[in-house]
Amino acid sequence: MIPVTKPFLPPKAEYDKYLDGIWERNWLTNNGPLVNELELKLKEYLDINHMLFVSNGTIALQIAIKALELQGEIITTPFSYVATTSSIVWEGCTPVYVDILPELLTIDPAKIEAAITPNTSAILATHIYGIPCDVEAIAEIAKKHKLKVIYDGAHAFGVKVKGKSIFDYGDISTCSFHATKVFHTVEGGGVFTKDPELLKKMAYLRNFGHDGFENFNGVGINAKNSEFHAAMGLVNIPHLPQILAKREAQCQLYKELLSDLNVSFPDTRNIEAYNHCYFPVLFEDEAALLRSMKLLADIGIGARRYFYPGLNTLDYTVGCTPVSDQIAARVLCLPLYHTLSSEEQGMISRLLLRVQNNPPARVKG
Ligand SMILES: *Cc1c(COP(=O)(O)O)cnc(C)c1O
Repeated sequence: MIPVTKPFLPPKAEYDKYLDGIWERNWLTNNGPLVNELELKLKEYLDINHMLFVSNGTIALQIAIKALELQGEIITTPFSYVATTSSIVWEGCTPVYVDILPELLTIDPAKIEAAITPNTSAILATHIYGIPCDVEAIAEIAKKHKLKVIYDGAHAFGVKVKGKSIFDYGDISTCSFHATKVFHTVEGGGVFTKDPELLKKMAYLRNFGHDGFENFNGVGINAKNSEFHAAMGLVNIPHLPQILAKREAQCQLYKELLSDLNVSFPDTRNIEAYNHCYFPVLFEDEAALLRSMKLLADIGIGARRYFYPGLNTLDYTVGCTPVSDQIAARVLCLPLYHTLSSEEQGMISRLLLRVQNNPPARVKG
């Protein structure tokens, strides 16, 4: 059984050390010392000024939308995980889909302006697979039309653009620290902004609006995270260099092993500090993808259709985005995690080549 991903678990003794402190202090949640320490360490690691640790990457998006007081239409990408769209709808706004770039798979800036209406309040784009959106083009459009920008950076931990953390772009960026992501705190997420006022506002939103015990500053929610989750993050940070190096080597090996396979890969060569969070493979067509996925599934190999279906096709959304539709139909993510062996990668690759070289017999009509 080879899953598409496996959470990283550090040596248990490293986590145990933090548990001793939690038991001594008897302080489990509510902005505890480990939560503060994690925020400090993440700011240092990512080289950014402001961030808040929250309970997950979805609430991070919702807090971002709330903090910017967005209303009406939000321009967004159809090619992402469902949380990008569901957060918009949950916050009472309407997602308006703009198609993606066929090579980079991020939102196509050249198509954004045509989608702007008097009701548009923001652009919410995803750095899909950690591939940066065209942040400069998007900033220019946003400035011209007075729109806010949120980046769903759930996949983009550690990635840089022009020497700066990718989380430095947009009014607010978010990240997910879910167990399946490159850096994780079991469940968790982050909101990032360069604006100290916005940070303050999000801190109130994260904690019910509490301003002291008896005063409240606006409508908040519970988006706090616990000392146990923060401890997992603190233990995992020092393992990051090794995890990232391993993933890079694994992706390189896949590309070599699959060089004779009739597929393409998104071009990630020029991305600074790329994190190799997924290994997406684009098949010629959906039929080829389904044949390969079935053969892998039959012997317990879990390749997954990240991200299918397109978010413009949900039963609560509408949108016409042909490029995204055809990408979503033929992209498959192969297993990728720190303990995946080169033998396992070899087996997966041989199976994919076998499917390609033994196409199903045509039924004669
Ligand atoms: C994982 C993910 C999220 C949600 O993060 P959670 O921490 O699981 O809530 C949001 N957007 C994208 C693109 C994701 O992949």
